[in-house]
Amino acid sequence: MLFIVYNCCLHCNRYAPQNIAKNLQENENKMNRNKKPLYRKVNTKAKGVHHHFGGDYSTNRHSKNNVVGMSKGKRRGLDYTPLFKFLLSKVGQPWDKVHSEAVSRLDREEPIYYIVSLDKSSAKDVVLVGESSYFSGLFVDEQGILQLTAPHIGPGDLEPSCACCTHSLNGKVFTKKYRG
Ligand SMILES: [Zn+2]
Repeated sequence: MLFIVYNCCLHCNRYAPQNIAKNLQENENKMNRNKKPLYRKVNTKAKGVHHHFGGDYSTNRHSKNNVVGMSKGKRRGLDYTPLFKFLLSKVGQPWDKVHSEAVSRLDREEPIYYIVSLDKSSAKDVVLVGESSYFSGLFVDEQGILQLTAPHIGPGDLEPSCACCTHSLNGKVFTKKYRG
């Protein structure tokens, strides 16, 4: 967003472009300070314990090295669902702005790239985060704009991989049932 506005007179630089840019930046900084983090703490005791992956879970559940539940998107007891929803809400916007706001509201940058690819060749249609929460894959196009990789895929197009979890795409529950 760039406004070209000329000085209203020779003695007044109130409307000079550099001042407007500075004011916009100050407003943005103020807004970011007031904005909530794009992640939330999860109850680590509840993480992943209800679900199993084939027969592995039953044989490994008592072992010390059981890492079920340490799936991406939920590491270190943090849930990045608010980040993914934020990124999806920014489709069509310039990536540099979206990226800098996201970084200012995160503990680390890495989770951004769970669903965002910086070029289309490595972009994913949908990304599974945790056990049953899918999010649309995003990529940054040649003009630097954030885009959906597969805009035609909705919650009615995917099939649940089990009967015990509620599968969702971008927070919307799948309409197809598990077929076994
Ligand atoms: Zn399940």
